[in-house]
Amino acid sequence: MIVVENVDGIYKNVFTVDVEDWYHSTDLKIDCKNWNGCDSRIEDSTYKILDLLEVANIKGVFYVLSDIALQRPNLVRRIRQAGHELGSHGCTHRLVSDMTQKQFSLDIQKSRNILEDITGEKLIYYRAPVWSISQKNCWALELLDHEGFLCDSSMQPIKTPLSGDRRCPLKPFRPIINGKRLSIVEFPSTVLTRGPLRLPFAGGLFLRMMPKGAISKALHLVNKVQPGMVYVHPWEIDIDQPRVCKPFYTAITHYGNLRSTLPKLKILLENYQFITMKEFLETGVFPEHTIRYEEQGK
Ligand SMILES: [Zn+2]
Repeated sequence: MIVVENVDGIYKNVFTVDVEDWYHSTDLKIDCKNWNGCDSRIEDSTYKILDLLEVANIKGVFYVLSDIALQRPNLVRRIRQAGHELGSHGCTHRLVSDMTQKQFSLDIQKSRNILEDITGEKLIYYRAPVWSISQKNCWALELLDHEGFLCDSSMQPIKTPLSGDRRCPLKPFRPIINGKRLSIVEFPSTVLTRGPLRLPFAGGLFLRMMPKGAISKALHLVNKVQPGMVYVHPWEIDIDQPRVCKPFYTAITHYGNLRSTLPKLKILLENYQFITMKEFLETGVFPEHTIRYEEQGK
């Protein structure tokens, strides 16, 4: 049983930020060769999130793309100086499901080295772009464990066009892969279950599209049985970002309800309890979950 709960038996949550610029968004399909020509807006948006967290007196985990870290080492330092924890979001926002084991291994090593060089501290948290670790590529968890990462947050227990797997547990767990017990903890994306339904609400498009009352209620219900993880991208609070409405559905998936993101986050931060990832890992006892390789050699 996980024991991260307060005296009322209500579980606490972890707040996370995926530090990537608007043009890194997978939905927009902007070729990485053209990223240099895009107007970066990451600093202002990240500072706004830092301000929000400072007012709420809450510390989160910032999963930084090392491409951003290379260009803006001072932003990484500001995040750390504000007392937040750092994680890797990979180098260039490439999905783990699009990488070979060798490529992924190089990606996590390179991104970690860049972040560690800036902070002088060991990096122990990872989040894959677009929740792109699943049972199919669970070798990624073995590699992260081997590299000394303590917590991964890259799996989602719902199926989406690009990622996710309903076989993923709802609660944080310790993976056993092909019989081998890993030390790393997997903290999957948070969903509310209602009968057979799994309803995502705690970040991204889902948070932006759902009414604020429903999001708050969902986290309340989740916290009766498990900790939740809230997540946001800095571009999700940037209403003045450039509009690249191709493909057409990005009017909703990328640009939908951007104006609502900050007020919704504020409600969650004001009304629910949040702890750091370090505190979460220190106080939690995590159930084990067995995963077997589906395909070898990728
Ligand atoms: Zn991302």
